[in-house]
Amino acid sequence: MTLPDGRSATDWVQVARDLASDVVRPRAAAMDREDRLPEEIRRELAARGLMGLTAPTEYGGANADTRTVAAVLETLSVASAAVATILSVHLAVATGPVVDHGSETQKRSWVPHLASGEWLGAFALTEPSVGSDAAHLTTRYTRVDGGFRLRGNKMFTTSAESADLIVLFATRDPEIGPHGISAFAVPKGTHGLSVGQRLDKLGLRGSETVELVLEDVQLPEGSLLGAEGHGLRIALQALAGGRIGIAACALGVARAAFEEMRTAAAREPEDWKRSAVARAFGELSAAATLVYHAADVKDRGLPFVDEASAAKLVASQAAMHIASIGMDVAGPTGTRSGSPAERLLRDARVFPIVEGTTEIQELILGRSLVDRT
Ligand SMILES: Cc1cc2nc3c(=O)[nH]c(=O)nc-3n(C[C@H](O)[C@H](O)[C@H](O)COP(=O)(O)OP(=O)(O)OC[C@H]3O[C@@H](n4cnc5c(N)ncnc54)[C@H](O)[C@@H]3O)c2cc1C
Repeated sequence: MTLPDGRSATDWVQVARDLASDVVRPRAAAMDREDRLPEEIRRELAARGLMGLTAPTEYGGANADTRTVAAVLETLSVASAAVATILSVHLAVATGPVVDHGSETQKRSWVPHLASGEWLGAFALTEPSVGSDAAHLTTRYTRVDGGFRLRGNKMFTTSAESADLIVLFATRDPEIGPHGISAFAVPKGTHGLSVGQRLDKLGLRGSETVELVLEDVQLPEGSLLGAEGHGLRIALQALAGGRIGIAACALGVARAAFEEMRTAAAREPEDWKRSAVARAFGELSAAATLVYHAADVKDRGLPFVDEASAAKLVASQAAMHIASIGMDVAGPTGTRSGSPAERLLRDARVFPIVEGTTEIQELILGRSLVDRT
């Protein structure tokens, strides 16, 4: 199938495969060790067009469908889950809300920079004491002459220190709940915005995760994304789509762990290892089916929230389980710091948490399957 930018899905997967083998894989271990995104990777993600994969063509993007994006993220994640996650966040929850809810002026001002990769995007919803229950944000905004003033803290924000544009959520009054929340686009260098803690993580190392501190951040009127009070809706819509991307990243980790396990089993075959590989193959295939099914449902324009949750739930569990059993099959060498099996296990452990925990996916699906019958 030819996509709107004239390239096929297969072309984009080949771009991701080449980037993974030429640029990402050779640097993945150092990136994990040093917890830093190498400049070459950021540059090549942009140069090869991947940062604009989802943006509309009129703003310089490729307008690729969800299935293509999932295949690209899975391919990159086999080489480095951190790189795939940075790209997923940039595309789905940073560029996505601007494309879907920005005014024409906002889109013309920001999307071409995000699509070219000149700018990196971030998404700041989580706070030190608010995660799953996003309706109860405490970061506050007040209307002031000509715009808004924001105060508060954001936590666990991927890419936010390097980001050029942060899609950030704040409430007019925590007492109002969901309808008090609005979305803002906050550019790098905004006065009053600073980085607090830099989090040293177990997995996805090289994908920076930071606390943001907002001390009387002044934003002009044109920073409001979508209508005032629609912020939570904007966040949840972005997260639902983003979940397919994160599920694809988890699938890439599951696939890499499966290949490691298969290679280790083939080196010294035994029946219990053959059984472990067979079970892992089943889990991997189930996860892949759900990820691409969710992508297809979204691409057909149908409601996809349940499918995205199921894909995220199953793919992140598959990544964790295959990486864990892979450690048994690899034997003691797998436990060595920096071994592929060890990095995959650490990376896998993060996926049940990001963009909605496993329990939250169960809640979304459970409510939909039981309460709406
Ligand atoms: C590496 C990494 C990157 C991240 N990047 C971003 C980012 O870019 N932007 C951003 O905004 N956030 C980001 N996050 C935050 C992430 O989305 C949150 O950690 C996640 O939503 C959970 O929120 P919490 O940590 O506050 O946990 P809590 O919501 O406090 O949950 C704690 C535990 O309780 C469970 N729980 C909570 N509520 C319920 C319930 N109603 N029923 C059953 N169980 C429940 C949860 O599943 C979890 O196990 C990132 C997190 C990590 C680890």
